Amino acid sequence: MKRILITGGAGFLGSHLCERLLAAGEELLCLDNFYTGSKDNIRHLLGNPHFEFIRHDIINPIYLEVDQIYNLACPASPVHYQYNPIKTIKTSVMGAINALGLAKRVKARILQASTSEVYGDPEIHPQQEGYWGRVNPIGIRSCYDEGKRAAECLMMDYHRQNHVDVKIVRIFNTYGPRMAVHDGRVVSNFIVQALKGEDITVYGDGSQTRSFCYVDDLIEGLIRMMNSPDAFTGPVNIGNPREFTILQLAETLIQMTGSASRIIFKPLPQDDPIQRRPDITLAREKLGWEPEIQLSEGLEKTIAYFRSLIGDSSRLTSKLIGSCP
Ligand code: NAD
Ligand code: UDP
Repeated sequence: MKRILITGGAGFLGSHLCERLLAAGEELLCLDNFYTGSKDNIRHLLGNPHFEFIRHDIINPIYLEVDQIYNLACPASPVHYQYNPIKTIKTSVMGAINALGLAKRVKARILQASTSEVYGDPEIHPQQEGYWGRVNPIGIRSCYDEGKRAAECLMMDYHRQNHVDVKIVRIFNTYGPRMAVHDGRVVSNFIVQALKGEDITVYGDGSQTRSFCYVDDLIEGLIRMMNSPDAFTGPVNIGNPREFTILQLAETLIQMTGSASRIIFKPLPQDDPIQRRPDITLAREKLGWEPEIQLSEGLEKTIAYFRSLIGDSSRLTSKLIGSCP
């Protein structure tokens, strides 16, 4: 049994990772400050003798004994990370320093949840790990993009200078149950709007693309990367290479929910990437990983989750209070 720390463990991805690792018989320390995460996401795990929750802000150092660290703490939705951008970049940079300091001290392996945002608004399509990206360093997304780029830099410098055992995963848009209702990301926004019969808010003309990965596939990729041979530090792209326009997503969700919602168009936010699709050749070769869940299957499960929440107004209220803005 390994002792594993998951920072950001009460968030969307973190809570699924906790579940999967507990089911595999590991001992978990779940650290979170509930900035965007919620107790609801981990309530069902709290009674498990192999699960311990630590309320802590990762911008402050922490001293623990662990074998592995998944560093996921950071708001991920543009709405949330732009709410307090200074806090966002502090979380990425100081959080990475603190998690790496811990890894160095106790000789733990550490996996950094990086992002496709390190590619910015890319000129190369699909995006390969060797591409250095096109990020606006002074725009409204840079608190997140540059924070994650600095965290990758720190991972590699701790690796080269202090021989810390690091793994970097660049996560592409992932969706599924336990996204917060007011998370602000496109899949949850559109599903909630469709289920409530509200207008579906497409930003721009909806021709921008994203490639959506279901959470179970993503978690499998993270765990495979964490347990890959020492020499493979990454970065490695983990995401679903099937690409859709945002307008296609809106139309699909209206059809799947049977909603009477209509599509309305709103201004495209500044620096919103025009296209995004992972090249997953490296993940296939090194991890034997590729996504298995089709968009329609993943959306069915996600719609069912939000339907159950919206039908239960008390949980909906607590989710709203848990959201930072
Ligand atoms: P999320 O917002 O649901 O989860 C982030 C978690 O981190 C929350 O529980 C939040 O409370 C916690 N957190 C934030 N700041 C913290 C701090 N200072 N100290 C301690 N905890 C803190 O987002 P998510 O989608 O689960 O994303 C998890 C990680 O994966 C993030 O690092 C994100 O950048 C990365 N990622 C996610 C996606 C995606 O599509 N979901 C894509 C790329 C990268
Ligand atoms: N988007 C949209 N309507 C929404 C939320 C998002 O059209 O209500 C668009 C957004 O402008 C972007 C895409 O959907 O082009 C994905 O946005 P999201 O916030 O999910 O993630 P991003 O990939 O931009 O970080």
